[in-house]
Amino acid sequence: MLEEENLYFAAVGDVHGHIYRMLGLLQNWEKKTGKSLSFVLQVGDFEAHRHEEDLKTMDAPTKYKQLGDFTDFYEGRARFPYPLYFIGGNHESYGFLDQHIKGKEIAPNFNYLGRVNAIKLAGLKIVGVSGVYKADLFSQLPRPTVAEFRNHSNKEYIGFLESEIEQAIDYENTDVLLLHDWPRGIISAEALEKFKQRYSNADYNSIGNEYARLLIEILQPKLVLCGHLHFKYRYVFNSSSQLVSNICCLANVKQGQDSLAVFRIAPDLKITEIN
Ligand SMILES: [Zn+2]
Repeated sequence: MLEEENLYFAAVGDVHGHIYRMLGLLQNWEKKTGKSLSFVLQVGDFEAHRHEEDLKTMDAPTKYKQLGDFTDFYEGRARFPYPLYFIGGNHESYGFLDQHIKGKEIAPNFNYLGRVNAIKLAGLKIVGVSGVYKADLFSQLPRPTVAEFRNHSNKEYIGFLESEIEQAIDYENTDVLLLHDWPRGIISAEALEKFKQRYSNADYNSIGNEYARLLIEILQPKLVLCGHLHFKYRYVFNSSSQLVSNICCLANVKQGQDSLAVFRIAPDLKITEIN
């Protein structure tokens, strides 16, 4: 197979407004390998805040309500060189993002996928579901709108809905699934020990959620990308039909290299993680 027939894309963990750090990691990879990246997928907690008003609609402790780098890109002082596609996490200005629940390019090359969406990139079908699982929000029907923000807590916007999981289940032939939180039941005993050194009260049944797992079982994507826990981890998920989904959990951008994964797309659309 000719090397030039391959394409490469990157996946990045929680950005939390540190777009320049992310950019440094991506450009380093290109410099080191001499290859170029076609696009970037990002798993939420991106923090696209345009101004202070947006921050008021993010669910987070006050000390974490920082504008971050997005304003530079939004106002044209900087340009991001790769098309980037992201879902929403639990720390986002949903007062802004929920104005585009079906997705939108919110600044040059920064594409929000919306609450649930499927797009096609380099021949791959990418499905994304924004938000995290919250039992009390899951059966909401519907979620309050942007216009109603004043009368609701920011927390009411961070969860995905049962109807959105159902919508995602209907997507066929998914190649890549973007989720913010992990699926339940994938962490190994060894990784759990390491995880507990950082989060002492963590236990097997508190990591990830059942709906993420259900989506993987039904959609059987080749690749699942997630973040949220700021912890690098890989897992091979065997769904009942003998198909395999590679699960790639990413650290956050502030942690450096562990937040980045790069994949090769072969002409037959096989996806392989490379270093
Ligand atoms: Zn995060």
